[in-house]
Amino acid sequence: MTFNLDGPVAIIGAGIGGLTAALSLQHFGVPVRVFEQAQAFREVGAGVTITPNAMNALNFLGIGPALAEQAGETLQYFVRSAADSRELERGPDPGSFVTEFGAPYCNLHRADLHGTLVGAVCRNDPDAITLGLRLDDVEQDGDNVVARFSDRSAFAASALVGADGGASAVRNVVFGGQTASYTGHVALRALVPYTRVPPAIIEDPYVLYVGAGRSLIHYPLRSQATMNLLGACLMTSRSPCENSSPQCPRRICSNGACETGSR
Ligand SMILES: Cc1cc2nc3c(=O)[nH]c(=O)nc-3n(C[C@H](O)[C@H](O)[C@H](O)COP(=O)(O)OP(=O)(O)OC[C@H]3O[C@@H](n4cnc5c(N)ncnc54)[C@H](O)[C@@H]3O)c2cc1C
Repeated sequence: MTFNLDGPVAIIGAGIGGLTAALSLQHFGVPVRVFEQAQAFREVGAGVTITPNAMNALNFLGIGPALAEQAGETLQYFVRSAADSRELERGPDPGSFVTEFGAPYCNLHRADLHGTLVGAVCRNDPDAITLGLRLDDVEQDGDNVVARFSDRSAFAASALVGADGGASAVRNVVFGGQTASYTGHVALRALVPYTRVPPAIIEDPYVLYVGAGRSLIHYPLRSQATMNLLGACLMTSRSPCENSSPQCPRRICSNGACETGSR
């Protein structure tokens, strides 16, 4: 594969997408500069499922083994009815993923995946990531593309990748006026220390409950140190977690371990 890039590629957003794009470009010898609006990376998020096709890509980029180690053993999953818990489907033997698809099926804490990507990108180039810069505008300037940030600084690059999430400023500038629209699909997530998980759930730790317009999945993370919970449902009113009313789902947890969001 050949590239005709004279300068670095600018990547807007240091989420999973932006960092994976950065590591991929570095892998092929293309210098990158990643710009992230957050002032610092914090341990945020909960469980993320990395299926074998994604693990194959991460293996190719050299970070698959470290991720598999952090994920720990993958258990067999069960799909149950939300109405009466009856078994609807049983997942394959977890060991069969490697023989059939060439890579394991991993459940990771998002922070472990994110931290591993940050480490790999920065090992390749310690100056690759700049925090605390929010992209406002993008301009074409001859063969270059110029990223303009809210602190009035600018960066000229050979190409620019918009990896700035669902409410992408890059998409808005390039395609004009396409703001993200709320669909009513809401995910509520929580992390529970394994020591506080009821024994009946520990005996049946990896289950997806499906029902009409809602689902709930729980599975262990970090070698069964933590139980990850993700509930999905339809909510017609937007962003209940932005207020402090008694209906706010964030109040379900008082220790700050649970977050709500519509990602
Ligand atoms: C904080 C956070 C926690 C999450 N937790 C989970 C989880 O627990 N489980 C799960 O399955 N998924 C989670 N997700 C979602 C999942 O990581 C992403 O939806 C998916 O990986 C797609 O990633 P992305 O890189 O395309 O976008 P995102 O993950 O949304 O990342 C976009 C990045 O771009 C930055 N950004 C946005 N606008 C600008 C701008 N104008 N200038 C500069 N930077 C900008 C954001 O701060 C963010 O870091 C989380 C996402 C975030 C941002």
